[in-house]
Amino acid sequence: MKQDYAVIGLGRFGGSVCRELSMEGMDVLAIDIDEEKVNEFKNIASYAVIADSTDEATLKELGIKNIDHVIVSIGDNIQASILTTVILTDLEIKKITVKAQSDYHEKILNKIGADQVVHPERDMGKRIAHSVISNNILDY
Ligand code: ATP
Repeated sequence: MKQDYAVIGLGRFGGSVCRELSMEGMDVLAIDIDEEKVNEFKNIASYAVIADSTDEATLKELGIKNIDHVIVSIGDNIQASILTTVILTDLEIKKITVKAQSDYHEKILNKIGADQVVHPERDMGKRIAHSVISNNILDY
């Protein structure tokens, strides 16, 4: 089933999510406050716009309410990440995935209603550790 997605924050993680979704033929609205980042995604995403996601009126104007799944990938600025998530939960977006920067950040995101919280560095570290162990067992 085809869904509409929005990716807010086009750093390494958000950029990679945006690229993959677009390559899979999904409609993606790419949002970043930084013009250079947005220009990078002009030919990749369906729409790429410069916007501050902490501004509720702007998100509404962009039609964020019609999007099925929003992925928030603002890591460094925890305040912006939290504020954006609160706005999205208030707007009753169907599914909200948020990238967390720390365990504390993750706890807050869960409390304010994010549907899915990802912690890419930590999760990938765990996966690699398990894959190293299982490869060692197979080698043995
Ligand atoms: P990565 O490790 O995935 O590169 P990061 O979590 O360190 O990313 P940040 O630099 O914190 O990434 O932010 C990711 C993106 O979010 C940046 O491109 C930044 O411009 C954008 N961003 C930060 N604040 C806002 C905001 N209020 N509205 C929209 N985009 C924002």
